[in-house]
This record gives sequence, C-alpha cells and structure tokens, in this order.
Amino acid sequence: MAIEKTYLMIKPDGVKRQVIGDIVDRFERRGFELKAAKLIVPSREVAEAHYAEHADKPFFGELVDFITSGPVFAMVWEGESVISLARIMMGATKPSESQPGTIRGDYAVTISENVIHGSDSAESAEREIALWFGSELA
Ligand code: UDP
Repeated sequence: MAIEKTYLMIKPDGVKRQVIGDIVDRFERRGFELKAAKLIVPSREVAEAHYAEHADKPFFGELVDFITSGPVFAMVWEGESVISLARIMMGATKPSESQPGTIRGDYAVTISENVIHGSDSAESAEREIALWFGSELA
C-alpha cells in the first residue's frame, strides 16, 4: 500500500450540470486530499496530448471536440491507493456496466459524455499531472 497521487478531471458535461461540488465531496468523504484544482477550457494541443493513446481510434476527433467544448475542472488528489480507488468510485466506461452509486453510474448514460476522467495507472497519473499542472506536482 502506498500514498499515491492521481489526476481527476470533471469533463465539460459535469461542469455544465453543476456536479463539481458533489464529486469533490465524494473524494473528500472517502478520505482523499485535494492537492490542486483549476477550472479551464483545455487547448486542443493539451486535449490531444492527454488522449494521445486514443489517437488512432474512430472516436478521437469527437473526444477532443467534446473535451475542448467548455471548462473542465482539473484536479490532483492524494491518498492511499487513490489511483485504483478513484477508478472504482468513477464507475465503468460503458454505461451498461457502470454501477449505481458510482459517479458515472449516477450521472451518465452515454459512453462519450461520462462526467469524469481518472488516471488508470501510476505512469498515466504522473504524465497527466505533469501535462495539466507541471512536473513539480507530479
Ligand atoms: N470514449 C468514447 N467512445 C468510446 C470509448 C471511449 O467516446 O467508444 C471516450 C470516453 O469519454 C472515455 C474516453 O474516451 O472516457 C477515454 O476512454 P478510456 O477507454 O480510456 O476510458 P476511461 O479511462 O475514461 O474510463
């Protein structure tokens, strides 16, 4: 077990629906610590770098369009096993698999507009924190 940092981001649909407060509250109640946060409209360059692993997927263009369509709430969270526990709290990517009680299971019905992003590994977390907040936080 280790204290980790992860990158979480409330996507434009979540910001528009005014669920920032609920989502931050879930992670605080679980026992995680918010280390950094900002509300920004991502540039296309940052969005494409963030989702670089999906660059050859058919949904890549729409994904970048969506993530740059309005403000996102970018966050760094710290705590015990926060990378994997945050993924469980987010819920599955596919709406048919995201359980009620998870963030996506409570708020999302489409695979594209699914409210939240969370790093899926220690390597992704380090890369994403550096991309959005600079390497000194990663
Ligand atoms: N996505 C999509 N269509 C798909 C698969 C993924 O629009 O068929 C989007 C969705 O917003 C997802 C993001 O691409 O959150 C990244 O996909 P990934 O498989 O990494 O899922 P995540 O880690 O976000 O659960």
